[in-house]
Amino acid sequence: MVHSLHDTVTLNNGVKMPWFGLGVYKAQDGKEVQQAVETALEVGYRSIDTASFYQNEEGVGQSIKASGLPRESLFVTTKVWNDQQGYEETLKAFEESRKKLGLDYVDLYLVHWPIKGKYIETYRALEKLYQEGWVRAIGVSNFKEHHLDDLLSHTSIVPAVNQIELHPRLTQEEVRAYCKEKGIQVEAWSPLMRARLFEEPTLNQLAKKYGKTPAQIILRWDLDRGIITIPKSVTPSRIKENADVFDFRLTEDELKLIDALNQNERTGMDPDKMS
Ligand code: NDP
Repeated sequence: MVHSLHDTVTLNNGVKMPWFGLGVYKAQDGKEVQQAVETALEVGYRSIDTASFYQNEEGVGQSIKASGLPRESLFVTTKVWNDQQGYEETLKAFEESRKKLGLDYVDLYLVHWPIKGKYIETYRALEKLYQEGWVRAIGVSNFKEHHLDDLLSHTSIVPAVNQIELHPRLTQEEVRAYCKEKGIQVEAWSPLMRARLFEEPTLNQLAKKYGKTPAQIILRWDLDRGIITIPKSVTPSRIKENADVFDFRLTEDELKLIDALNQNERTGMDPDKMS
């Protein structure tokens, strides 16, 4: 049972990562992202998910610095974008991200998408960064089973995390089972399906029963299913609302009702089609 924003899951290398974090995709660099991160840290979030692609690493870094919170109490994820992939390119991209964030080290560095012909070399650069202590954990994003099979047979460090699109319309049970078997922690992106699921009747019934919102029901489902979740919001009231999910728990039958909403429906790109 996850009880608070500070609760962590222990990754396969022993590093502890918060179950719950703030996503900042589409939060504009400058005032918008800074206010979102500031609000989140005040509310008690300790994990922030950014990427070089989001072009807001500087704002994220500034808010972290301004918060005055001890570095070791925070967990910062960033990612290497598709056109930065390759061994040397990734080492360079990491250094750029690290400087923009203004951090001595990054907690989790991910290969953003499995770019064919590149992701193995990219991941080898992540292994080097990990071995040299620049990152506390390394992982991947948008990897299907066949990408992971390929990666595991050509590299030596099992990814700590696979961050994938995951919400009640895309429950990803096969990838989750695969990752569980290999010791890879699954993390959900677009957990709220980009705000497209809030009219769904099952979620509304459960929301009514618990005196919660459909967003909170989805986020509790993530936690009760052992999935790290990183809802994005730049709206202070929603940043608070999303994190107010630690005073109730769904029953196994209710979790199954939500599992049954799956339609294998993606909002983002199919990883096999990204290049
Ligand atoms: P989410 O599913 O988190 O939905 C975000 C949207 O929902 C925003 O429009 C937000 O609006 C709105 N919203 C948030 N909370 C509520 C609420 N309680 N009630 C009503 N509306 C709400 O989508 P994202 O795509 O942003 O995914 C989350 C994070 O995952 C990203 O920010 C990013 O960090 C990561 N990600 C990773 C990807 C990858 O390839 N690895 C791809 C996509 C996302 P507002 O902000 O205006 O409040």
